[in-house]
Parts: sequence; C-alpha cells; structure tokens
Amino acid sequence: MTERGWQIGYTGGTFDRASERRLDDAFLAAEVAAGRFRVAPVWRDRNLVFSPPGGGPRAAFLSGEAARGLLQGGGETGSPGILLGVEGGELAFAVDVSTFDPEVAAFGAGDYADIRSLAGLLPAAEAALLATARGVCHWQRTHRFCGACGSPTASREAGHARLCLNEACGRIHYPRLDPAVIMLVESVGEDGVPRCLLAHNARFPNAVYSTLAGFVEIGETLEQAVRREVWEEVGLAVGEVVYRASQPWPFPSSIMLGFSAMAEAAVPTPDRVEVTDARWFSAADLAAAAEWGEEEAEIRLPRRDSIARFLVEAWRARFAAD
Ligand SMILES: [Zn+2]
Repeated sequence: MTERGWQIGYTGGTFDRASERRLDDAFLAAEVAAGRFRVAPVWRDRNLVFSPPGGGPRAAFLSGEAARGLLQGGGETGSPGILLGVEGGELAFAVDVSTFDPEVAAFGAGDYADIRSLAGLLPAAEAALLATARGVCHWQRTHRFCGACGSPTASREAGHARLCLNEACGRIHYPRLDPAVIMLVESVGEDGVPRCLLAHNARFPNAVYSTLAGFVEIGETLEQAVRREVWEEVGLAVGEVVYRASQPWPFPSSIMLGFSAMAEAAVPTPDRVEVTDARWFSAADLAAAAEWGEEEAEIRLPRRDSIARFLVEAWRARFAAD
C-alpha cells in the first residue's frame, strides 16, 4: 500500500505463492530437474545479497547444481527447499543453510546480511521475497519437535507444514503468526492544531520516537487491543479506532495491524517501564525531526521500512492536503 508514494516495507511481493503446487511433488521435481528454479538461501536469519557495481543491494539467488544439492540436502532442518512461489516461470525456494560455513554457503554469489539493515535499499519485490524466506526458515528451525507430544517433526507440503512423526500423535503443525497492533494516537489541541503522539520506548535507540504497539492477547478484538495498549503504555483513553494498513513482519513471526486512534484526553502518562517519554507532535514538529540513522539528532523518526513510519507519513499527508 502506498500513501503519497510511501510504500510499506516488505509489502511489495510480486511472486505467486502457488499454494496449489505444495502437494504436487511430481510437478516440483520435474521443474527442478529442468532447472526452472532458484534458491534464496537463509543463514541464521540472514539473506544472501550482493551489490552490483554502482548499484544498491540486490537479492542473490542460487541456481544450477549447487542449488539442486541444497534443495536435496535440506540444511539444518532436514527440510528440502521451502516453496516460496513462482515468479517469471521459475520456482523460488528458500533453504536454511544455518549449519554451513556462511562463506561456503554463499557460493561466491554474495554475502549474508540482515535485510532490516538494508531497509529501503532493496527493490520492494525482492525485500518481500527475502523476508518471506527468512520467516519460513525461522518457523521450520524452531518447530522441529511436536508441541503436543515432544516427538520430532518433518517438513511436509513443500515446507509449509510439519508432521509429527509419532504415529500415535500424528499432528500436522502449520506456521503461526503473532498479531500485533500498532497505532498512531491523534488529537486536536485547544489551539486547534492536529497533533499525533509518538513515544520513546526503553528498547529504542536514543532519541527515537515512534507509535505505540503491542501484541494482541487471547480472547481480545483488535480494537480492544489498541485501547488496552494505549492505556497501559501512556494512560490515555481512546475513542474511535480506525484500521489503516497491515505489514508482514517476519522478524521472526508477526503481522503488524496498523490503526489510528483518537485520544479522549490530552496529557499522556508514560508507564516508565516500556515507555519512558511520550510527546505530541504537530506536522511542523515532524518536519523538523530527523531520520533513524542521524544519531546526533534530538528527535528521530521510526525506520523507513516500518509501518510505524507509514502511519506517521499518512497522518502528515492528511493534514498537508488540507
Ligand atoms: Zn506429536
């Protein structure tokens, strides 16, 4: 989704997930045998990238015999390649190579990097594909044992399920997401100036102010989660809650659900545990704020790949248009 050209990070995927092919072993084997595939390897949550001369970073893919060997070998999880989807007539697989020496597992095609450190530099479609690869490999790596009986599990459905190998149990486990709400609290001051609330969290780098956020709890609606988190973190009651946008956040396994929320009171009271400071910002205040990377600045905005930043920019665009 874009707002005045602002694309939310990791939402630009163009590959077809081709979920109907996940059980079609004959098709997958034939495509691999014919060489119509490529592999996005993942080494301990890092993706393989390279920098072409004079250009920004790009996703690096493996193909040919080396990639075929990786698909069959299965890496740490014993899982053959995880089918991400189909793009440009080729299957795209992720393979976890975490137990390999990273230099060996790079096959000279690039280096392993945290794609979050390349926020906004990778082409949007590649960032989405690599984030997906990272997320599914993390899920595979952390679900090698059955949560019900403790027996080993094995990959099924081209990497999108794991089967408990204890025949008396036999549960099939599917990837789970952790939904999180993220919200920009708004208000119009007594002076008539619209403002939004940004907070400094104890876990943030110095001077970074961002939206409030938190995980949805069992038995809770998204709107209730928004109201609870705002109340817990800054002691403000909020009225209307409006859904704005979502963002996959496989770092390791979240989906971010973005909202705006109208404050019913003016004075925030930070909880001093998670949130150490909360302030109201007008559009003019935001214009004077610095970027995440500008470490000497007094106020820094959220990273450009985050939905937090999108919510801030979308809010600013609403008032700039008036
Ligand atoms: Zn089991």
